[in-house]
Amino acid sequence: MINLEDLTIKSLSQKLNKKEVSVIEVVKEYLKAIKTRDKKIGAYLSVDEEGALESARQIDASKEKLGVLAGIPIAVKDAILVNGQPATAGSKILEKYVAPYEGGAVERLRNEGVIFLGKTNMDEFAMGSSTENSGFKLTKNPHDLKRVPGGSSGGSAAAVAGNLALASLGSDTGGSIRQPAALCGIAGLKTTYGAVSRYGLIAMASSLDQIGPFAKTVEDVGLLFQAMAGYDEWDSTSNPSASYGDELTKPDWKKIKGLTIGIPEEYFGEGIDKEVSASMDEVINFYKSEGFKIKSVSMPNTKYGLSVYYIVMPAEASTNLARFDGIRYGTRNKAKNLLDLYLENKGKGFGAEVKRRITLGTFVLSAGYYDAYYLKAQRVRTLVNQDFEKAFEKVDVLLTPTSPTVAFKIGERTQNPLEMYMSDILTIPANLAGVPGLNVPVKDREGRLPVGFQLMGRHWQEADILGLGMYYERK
Ligand code: GLN
Repeated sequence: MINLEDLTIKSLSQKLNKKEVSVIEVVKEYLKAIKTRDKKIGAYLSVDEEGALESARQIDASKEKLGVLAGIPIAVKDAILVNGQPATAGSKILEKYVAPYEGGAVERLRNEGVIFLGKTNMDEFAMGSSTENSGFKLTKNPHDLKRVPGGSSGGSAAAVAGNLALASLGSDTGGSIRQPAALCGIAGLKTTYGAVSRYGLIAMASSLDQIGPFAKTVEDVGLLFQAMAGYDEWDSTSNPSASYGDELTKPDWKKIKGLTIGIPEEYFGEGIDKEVSASMDEVINFYKSEGFKIKSVSMPNTKYGLSVYYIVMPAEASTNLARFDGIRYGTRNKAKNLLDLYLENKGKGFGAEVKRRITLGTFVLSAGYYDAYYLKAQRVRTLVNQDFEKAFEKVDVLLTPTSPTVAFKIGERTQNPLEMYMSDILTIPANLAGVPGLNVPVKDREGRLPVGFQLMGRHWQEADILGLGMYYERK
């Protein structure tokens, strides 16, 4: 018997190499778990049973020593292309779309022998913080089925937290990996902009989107990131000179202990749940008692992050989503003339939140308002970035809560988009600045809802935040 609850990438990889279990046994166990338990959780939109079993057989048949990711079963957010599998991005307009090629990050993982179990539920086109905007179904938080798993990568987070996959991939435009990771009590990494290929990611806002991993431990997240990172000529924003080494998963502890942790006061203000603040105190005290240098820093433009995001993101989304017109992409309906065709296809294909954001985006980009909104927002984005630059002159990493609250009830925020938007107030700045951010689950919360803390680092310094996260995880 394999106990899925206790399994990590690291431990499964050891078992596979010692031949204590075979890949096919593990994959069958996950497929069984999905069949019996995903009805309640709703993490998956599609499952590739045959493909997963076939890949498992191939790895079991191989005579070579297995790499650490060989035979590791993972789930993938439905906005990321896995060759031959559906890719709906949570939208009715792409209900029948099947990916004709493999995304860059997925390809790298497949080359390492990773097994792809299926595609996970998400907010439509990654717009949301609860997965309630999916065009297909709700996903429940495995810790409390009345609550949301967070979003937009809620299916991927719930799959890992519910032991329906050992790890998963998500995408993060304003918090969609870190926030659901926090609400589901797992680790999740938004990588430096340009570190992981966006090729094959159905775009929401291209200057903010990044693909990243979810897993039960920070160490596992590091293992996946190490394999996914790297230049891809098919993504013009991927960085040809970035290079990461073993320090992502084998930290230089002396260096990690020498890091100065910054506490930006603006992230601890109004709207943070008591329970979340109390957990942050515990975590900060932990690092203090371990001898880390802790410094308070100020990032005064943090308060503009959300407003900047809700101009830049819809602007980019409105141009990215223009291709879904039922002619180039998407389901085509019958219509009398061209205008009618657009109205029919987009009217039926898109949900309310997507329409809201396209409207907002085309508005801020329109000739009369471009300077007042879009250009202004770009300038303020620079100020937010400068906050990070200044903070990183004084400290090496920043520690904040990930989400202002624990997982909220299904339906609690759906009537008020602004309240929903506030869920990402602490994660959005990292996307605006392109710096990496990691959610680390706070320990010893059995019987209570999960809380996570966020570590943000300098560009390309994922090793710092992963090392610091692993330090906490291991003590
Ligand atoms: N919740 C944020 C939004 O709705 C972030 C989404 C994301 O990161 N994809 O835009």
